[in-house]
Amino acid sequence: MSTIEDLVDRLRGYLKPEEIQQVRRAYYFAEQAHDGQRRRSGEHYVTHPLAVATILANMHMDAESLMAAMLHDVIEDTPVSKEALAKQFGETVADLVDGVSKLTQIHFEDKALAQAENFQKMALAMAKDIRVILVKLADRLHNMRTLGALRPDKKRRIARETLDIYSPIASRLGLNTIRTELEELGFEGMHPMRHERLKRAVQSVKGNRRQVIREIQTALQDCLDTDELHGKVIGREKHLLSLYRKMKERRKSFSEIMDVYGFRIITDKVDTCYRILGAIHNLYKPVPGRFKDYIAIPKANGYQSLHTSLIGMNGIPIEVQIRTREMEAMANNGIAAHWVYKSEQKEAAQGMTGASHARARQWVKGLLEMQQRAGNSLEFIEHVKMDLFPDEVYVFTPKGDIMELPSGATAVDFAYAVHTDVGNSCVAARINRRLSPLSAHLESGQSVEIITSPSARPNLAWMSFVATAKARSAIRHYLKNQQREESVSLGKRLLNKALDAFNKQFDSIDKHQIRELLKEFQYESEHDLLEDIGLGNRMAFGVARALIGHEESAAHAEQSASTSKLAISGTEGMVTSYARCCHPIPGDPVVGHISSGRGIVIHMENCRNIANIRDDSNRCIPMDWTDSVTGDFTVVLRVEAEHEKGFIASLAALITEADGSIEKITTEEKDARISLVNIELGITNRVHLAKVMRRIKTLNNVNRIVRARR
Ligand code: MN
Repeated sequence: MSTIEDLVDRLRGYLKPEEIQQVRRAYYFAEQAHDGQRRRSGEHYVTHPLAVATILANMHMDAESLMAAMLHDVIEDTPVSKEALAKQFGETVADLVDGVSKLTQIHFEDKALAQAENFQKMALAMAKDIRVILVKLADRLHNMRTLGALRPDKKRRIARETLDIYSPIASRLGLNTIRTELEELGFEGMHPMRHERLKRAVQSVKGNRRQVIREIQTALQDCLDTDELHGKVIGREKHLLSLYRKMKERRKSFSEIMDVYGFRIITDKVDTCYRILGAIHNLYKPVPGRFKDYIAIPKANGYQSLHTSLIGMNGIPIEVQIRTREMEAMANNGIAAHWVYKSEQKEAAQGMTGASHARARQWVKGLLEMQQRAGNSLEFIEHVKMDLFPDEVYVFTPKGDIMELPSGATAVDFAYAVHTDVGNSCVAARINRRLSPLSAHLESGQSVEIITSPSARPNLAWMSFVATAKARSAIRHYLKNQQREESVSLGKRLLNKALDAFNKQFDSIDKHQIRELLKEFQYESEHDLLEDIGLGNRMAFGVARALIGHEESAAHAEQSASTSKLAISGTEGMVTSYARCCHPIPGDPVVGHISSGRGIVIHMENCRNIANIRDDSNRCIPMDWTDSVTGDFTVVLRVEAEHEKGFIASLAALITEADGSIEKITTEEKDARISLVNIELGITNRVHLAKVMRRIKTLNNVNRIVRARR
């Protein structure tokens, strides 16, 4: 059994002494934290993190990854917190461990196979630092190696998860060594009998094959040597799972597959790869259409190599892969090959998260450059970028389905993604079972539940934070419809008020008369006409006169104005609003200004801003409040008071006692003795305001109090 000192020996090859010391420290920390815990096999728990770190050391991963590997189960399985780890080993290591723990908490196994690909993406999205994935894969690999002690059903479940989720991720990242081992172990765990039978079958033909392999290998090597090409020929073993898949999916017989002999030739330069290809095509006859140039056009995960198929002596099929040493490293360790330690790259000062991320991006950039050299489609680039740095977040619905949303998406986007009706009636969200605002940004791995209410409506403010086109258009659509309905109803009220002057109501007017008018004014429908009146685009009085007919209207015209007032019910919605210059509140004498496109803006009767147009019945109408108007209205009070310590505090207390809600207080010094206090407060109506003002007047140092107007 290997110890920390065995690992340290390995690390001497590529890490600095102080880094090795850090890794050692992490080991002892983990040993202590897991003290008393044992693995199912009976071994001390710390043997597991040690083995995980060793897997990563074999890929020459950096010190932080190794430390995170040592500590990867500490947050999950011991009382040690992330904060404690950050203190001991720095933020980056703590973040890595935290990331691994979060991945561990997600149970991939009970989900439908169809979702496997989403899970893979989700895992990648959750790991902000790609090293989290590398640690997690190494963790999984060691667990797979030690599956033996588990119950068969549990074994099968873990093996399946490995094949569905983890080996594809390893493949995506080009980690072929890990991928192959995960697949072999996964196959064994899933189908122990089939695995065993296949293994024995391979074993039994091995003796016969050995001689053939040696002959071909020698022939290939001689061929290179004669042409003075530097290269090493290696025989390739067949992996049992790929053998099994070929038999199952391509319906080939065992001997058909086993009769193919695989070789790999490793060389120094790209140029030599092509020359070797030429040389061996000279030696054996190539199979037409089977040559593949993955050097010019790399695979999406960065894999590069030349592949060709040949017919050897006695018609034996031969497959050859030719690549450089770098390509070999890339093929085996993929993205991890780029963490290979280089002392000059140590950027500790910059904070390692940024630096490691930068290196991961560098990897992608490297791929892009390869692609540019190959001069091929953009699709490849998008594929790689999307795979490694997904622009999506993946969250769970309450039923456990995965929902894919763009990054930056909020609970509202989620609600609309579920269903438009859910979006239109959402009021709050539970994210990971905690109540959260609708504007909260979602993160991968969260579970999201939307709370709806039948009386809820979309809010214009949502437009400022939603991220999906679907939510945006649904909200806009709803608001537009709503505004239309409100405009139509206000238009009808305005028209009826104008018709009052002729003792008529819109509904009692002859339909023929209305149709004539619509034609004259070029409206499609009554609704369109009423909407335009409501929006202030057409004058109600003019329409009324046209409807009644000119003769009749002349007789009544004079008595039209201001006999009755239009009632404000408070439910007009967006087509009525309150002027911000004079802040009218219920009970104030008010006038409605019909402003084109905006409906009615309600001003105080004596507001300076409407003084010139107040008597123009085409632009202003007298209005009145009904008792049903509720809610907070803003007023500004101006208080003149003598200086006194704690005055603002007692003022605020008084207002609060009187149920006024303070929105803003500003003060200005008038002179040494007097100060002016401006208070913006929410009030329900005039009676309420009077009560608040009376209270303020009880303060001895208050000289004057007035409602401020602009
Ligand atoms: Mn573990």
